[in-house]
Amino acid sequence: MGVYELLERELGRDRVLRDEAALEAYGRDESSLGRFPPDAAVLARSREEIEIVLRLAAEYAIPVTPRGAGSGMTGGALPVRGGLVLSTEAMRGIRLIDPDDRIAIVEPGVINGDLQKAAEEQGLFYAPDPASLAMCSLGGNVAENAGGPRAFKYGVTRDWTLGMTVTLMGGETLKLGRKTPKGVTGYDLVAMFVGSEGTFGVTSEITVRLIGKPEAAAALIAVMPDPVAAGRAVSAIIRRGFRPRALELMDKSSLDHVRSRAAFTFPADAGAILLIELDGERDTLEGAILRCGDLCQDLGASEVIVARDDADRERLWRTRRLCSVSLREAHRWKQSEDIVVPTGSIAEMLRRVDEISARSGLLTATFGHAGDGNLHVNLLSDENPRDRDVAARIEAALADLFRATLDLGGTLSGEHGIGISKARYMAWEQSAEVIDWQKRLKRLWDPRELLNPGKIFAA
Ligand SMILES: Cc1cc2nc3c(=O)[nH]c(=O)nc-3n(C[C@H](O)[C@H](O)[C@H](O)COP(=O)(O)OP(=O)(O)OC[C@H]3O[C@@H](n4cnc5c(N)ncnc54)[C@H](O)[C@@H]3O)c2cc1C
Repeated sequence: MGVYELLERELGRDRVLRDEAALEAYGRDESSLGRFPPDAAVLARSREEIEIVLRLAAEYAIPVTPRGAGSGMTGGALPVRGGLVLSTEAMRGIRLIDPDDRIAIVEPGVINGDLQKAAEEQGLFYAPDPASLAMCSLGGNVAENAGGPRAFKYGVTRDWTLGMTVTLMGGETLKLGRKTPKGVTGYDLVAMFVGSEGTFGVTSEITVRLIGKPEAAAALIAVMPDPVAAGRAVSAIIRRGFRPRALELMDKSSLDHVRSRAAFTFPADAGAILLIELDGERDTLEGAILRCGDLCQDLGASEVIVARDDADRERLWRTRRLCSVSLREAHRWKQSEDIVVPTGSIAEMLRRVDEISARSGLLTATFGHAGDGNLHVNLLSDENPRDRDVAARIEAALADLFRATLDLGGTLSGEHGIGISKARYMAWEQSAEVIDWQKRLKRLWDPRELLNPGKIFAA
């Protein structure tokens, strides 16, 4: 009996997908990196089942690729070496929300937005808010150390993950971390597992911290004449001591793509817009948001649109949320990167992106989390990306983008991870020694490199 038959016998035939049609969805994600159908996909429902899969797969030396909701942008969940996909998408239980201890204990398939909603129903708040929150799972968020607009004030998934239950290749299960907000007992293995892109172990339970839900939020959009003025406004707002929960930027190209669908009319000569959101006590918010608007005007904003109520605030956010989908709909091909540069270099980065666009003949649109210097630079084309000339120009543009990022003191990825799409650029940012030590860590947890092989490090 082969390993897949053994898995069927242990878990039930309905949980081990093997026919081509059923496997189609498990060979792709949101990265547009192509299709890598696995030999089988297992839909785990419990920690015990994860243990069985990882024990048998180790015995038979089968590669295993963990998978959550498949919304990853860098190919992390793609089974590039075949074998089986181990999906935790069906593990959707919110086991505990404890208002006194301010923690939640969840299974890895819980959708981010569902956890947020469940926490808010009890007056609590889970801050990490990837733009994919309606579809991505906590298991994937932890594996990618996901962030979102609110990361500027509240940090990323690592800052909210207190503990986890994780099963290693071979089937051994470890409980890592704690339930308390503080704790420095031993090495911080939780921090190491968060962001390990499913290459160390498979999570079956995650403990996250929660805080009290902020009383209110206030937001504005400032229409800036150019990226330089927008960059100055970002720096000025931070220097003045404001701590917006989101400080988002859209460049002219992004704005032009959403303009016709936005709820507000933006001047044709707008060079960039900033979306600023504060949260806190209702009494003080109105004054604070108006002061942020004044600052933007002092630095050249031609218009400041302040949300009058929550519905209005939602309309402002819609302008920002339309970016990704509008770009995808408008162009035949789109690749969204998530580079980070020091905030003082945002304007220079945007200037270099314009140069890359001119040199490559590709369109670009940049938006993202200006407060963190985390920019989604989108390369866009209406030509066939498989055409040899277009592919070469894309390749050159990506290389130029990453070179410019590193040249300005930045980093390749602020949110999406390395996966397969950026593996070959790792050595541009990190020394051979640092990469080697990371590979040693990988082999510590997974000596035969069977768990999510082919990720992060170039072959
Ligand atoms: C429109 C759109 C917007 C996005 N916006 C953001 C954003 O604002 N911020 C951001 O950070 N990301 C964003 N992303 C990327 C993506 O949503 C995140 O990386 C997310 O964390 C992936 O979660 P997932 O459940 O879909 O994981 P998957 O794509 O299924 O997997 C991602 C990685 O996690 C691993 N993994 C999944 N589950 C487990 C588990 N139980 N145990 C161990 N490893 C596991 C996989 O092996 C893989 O390496 C966006 C994606 C899209 C499509």
